[in-house]
Amino acid sequence: MTRFHRPGSLEEATTLLSELDDAMVYGGGTAIQILLKQGILFTEDFLDISGVPGLNDVVLTDGGFRVGSLVSLRHMETSEDVRRLAPLVAQTYGKVANPRVRNTASVGGNVAHGDYRLDPPTALAVLDATLELSSVEGTREVSVREFFVDFQVTDLQPDEMITALLIPHQPPGSVGHYTKLSSLSENDWPCATAAVLAVPEDDFVEIRIGLGALAPTTRYLAFDMTPDMNDQQTVEAAIEIADSAMDPIADVRGSASYKATLGRVAVEEAVRTVLKEINRD
Ligand SMILES: Cc1cc2nc3c(=O)[nH]c(=O)nc-3n(C[C@H](O)[C@H](O)[C@H](O)COP(=O)(O)OP(=O)(O)OC[C@H]3O[C@@H](n4cnc5c(N)ncnc54)[C@H](O)[C@@H]3O)c2cc1C
Repeated sequence: MTRFHRPGSLEEATTLLSELDDAMVYGGGTAIQILLKQGILFTEDFLDISGVPGLNDVVLTDGGFRVGSLVSLRHMETSEDVRRLAPLVAQTYGKVANPRVRNTASVGGNVAHGDYRLDPPTALAVLDATLELSSVEGTREVSVREFFVDFQVTDLQPDEMITALLIPHQPPGSVGHYTKLSSLSENDWPCATAAVLAVPEDDFVEIRIGLGALAPTTRYLAFDMTPDMNDQQTVEAAIEIADSAMDPIADVRGSASYKATLGRVAVEEAVRTVLKEINRD
């Protein structure tokens, strides 16, 4: 028998998570509903966390955003503040599936889903975002770069829930771009994605790259573009470092070698796009 619990506070929610066997947090339900319909989810206890205060809020902090776990992907895509202060993040949320999914799915459910093809974690890793995880033991923070451990495995423990995403604003002068390549329709799951952020430092430009769908987990890499490197050398360096991190999984959308080829194309397109806009003076 399926039971829905509706805690009214964080304390109530984490206590339920620690006491119930196999309880699942219900975010937007877009992934859970599919698993239920497929008959492959046997959980009986769901936690509807919409009564927990603060989970729907986006708060501007000093240098970043505190985004409650129930905030929708669509809000992140359309928010004026996110578009202004972290445009790469807004662009990446805007590439998930279709407006119907983006209106319903939550930012917490998105990362907790743990799929290696998810769009947002690529940009979140590039910006060095952090997840706030809560349990009866208290709260801990985990970098998105460390959260995705292996294929469908995250660092989220069974008695924990994600309460917020802490997303830094883009560094001053930085330029980002997200490229998503799919072999079926444009809003299908991707075969290869690359979120690239070029960050000007005193003597060089740091090129940060988040790769999605190209390995069992999101991958994060970075290198320095020194003043002696031209655009072509920078693109080649980006492809070389991305290549070393790729370990694509063959499926109905393409073979491993096809996905690796698309991965190199995605990296090249994203890097060339940011290089057109970055000020190197
Ligand atoms: C048709 C379709 C196409 C899609 N295409 C894409 C795509 O192209 N790119 C992409 O990135 N994603 C895609 N997705 C996946 C989509 O992003 C996820 O379904 C969605 O983000 C999950 O969010 P949710 O809030 O609905 O999670 P839910 O379905 O509510 O939950 C998903 C998982 O997260 C857990 N969970 C939820 N909230 C929390 C929390 N606060 N703390 C701890 N655990 C939690 C749940 O227990 C469950 O295990 C697609 C989904 C669909 C249905």
